[in-house]
Amino acid sequence: MIVPPVNSIPLTSDLCIKCNICTSACPVATVTDLFPGPKAVGPQAQRFRDPHLPSPDKSLDYCSACGVCSLVCPHGVQIAEMNAIARAGIMKRDGLPLRNWLLGRSELLGKLGSPFAPFSNIPLKIPPLRKLVEWVLGIDARAKFPTFSRETFRGWFKKTPAAGRMIGARKVLYFHGCATNYYEPRIGKAAIEVLERNQIKVTVAEQNCCGLPMQSNGDFESARAYARNNIRKLAPWVREGYVIVGTSTSCTLAIKHEYQAVLGIDDPDLELVTSNTYDIFEFLEMLDEEGLLDTRFVRRSEKVVYHAPCQQRTHGFGRPAADFLRRFGFTVVESRADCCGVAGTYGLKKEKYNIAAAVGQPLFNQIAHEKPERVVCDSETCRWWIESHTGKKAVHPIEVMAEAYKGRKQ
Ligand code: SF4
Ligand code: SF4
Ligand code: SF4
Repeated sequence: MIVPPVNSIPLTSDLCIKCNICTSACPVATVTDLFPGPKAVGPQAQRFRDPHLPSPDKSLDYCSACGVCSLVCPHGVQIAEMNAIARAGIMKRDGLPLRNWLLGRSELLGKLGSPFAPFSNIPLKIPPLRKLVEWVLGIDARAKFPTFSRETFRGWFKKTPAAGRMIGARKVLYFHGCATNYYEPRIGKAAIEVLERNQIKVTVAEQNCCGLPMQSNGDFESARAYARNNIRKLAPWVREGYVIVGTSTSCTLAIKHEYQAVLGIDDPDLELVTSNTYDIFEFLEMLDEEGLLDTRFVRRSEKVVYHAPCQQRTHGFGRPAADFLRRFGFTVVESRADCCGVAGTYGLKKEKYNIAAAVGQPLFNQIAHEKPERVVCDSETCRWWIESHTGKKAVHPIEVMAEAYKGRKQ
């Protein structure tokens, strides 16, 4: 994917031919009149923005940053990126709401909540307290949060003997992100199992939150600080011959695309890090193409619905996870929805919860109709949202791949 330099993103508005394709594809504009759509809020509004002043158009806060518009625009207008930059301008001028500050701090929340689990999970389940939080902060009381895991993924990795195995010539630095570390260590464990099964030497080095939650909540300065930290921590490993592989399509997209395209990071090591970062299924597909993947899967029949999250599609490497699922023997029904609605932390916000639920409704209907045993999806927030709206278990494709090597559920 060719990424224009950050300063040129607003200028891509000049490429717009007003065809309206983006507006027909925008999942948010489809379900609410509060958002006039990508063309109006993106390239059209951009022409009236003083480059030195933030946008006066607050409706752009209803853009969920799903990226569908940028994907479908036939003229390469970087609409979602343009909106993200304009939103950050508004936040800078008006001040960042406490809620946005908090929702951007997934790493801090994990550090505070995980050591006290399971007790730290209790307040989120007390309805009157949730109502109070909704009233004070604007986080919808209906939004379900994942539960903190007492054992972090990093803690597990440090103490497990498998983590000490140094096998194979290929080297991977696993980027776990906040969700795997503090909420779903099982996904990191499955990733390590799959990589080590393929004779790959895996390390889990120092890293920070990718910064995407801050970026999408309009806090660019903090997101840049996190991005710079990551570049500083990751670049030496790339020089040592490691590639960075992540299981969260959002984290890897942040490193590969957003640091440069949206945050405008100027760092001599950025290119080194971005060009050596891969989503885990992108990486496994590359291994397979080179004939280096262990393909001794135990085939199992199960019907699943696979939802490719928007962040996954923005990577632009197809849907290898769905292809792998078929090879494991699964009947794969691909989601027809462009977006499940939650868009990171968008759906957690009081004024956006109903919009996000309406965006996701076609997917929830499809899942209800297909009646799969499980849903498979590469993005954590999407999985949690889908689970809470359908009652179906949602898993990461790497968990299913670890199962396929063993011939049974994890
Ligand atoms: S799809 Fe692209 S060219 Fe068409 S209206 Fe939207 S921004 Fe303009
Ligand atoms: S990023 Fe998504 S919600 Fe925002 S304008 Fe584009 S398609 Fe619509
Ligand atoms: S919620 Fe999922 S499907 Fe929707 S914007 Fe995010 S990544 Fe995309």
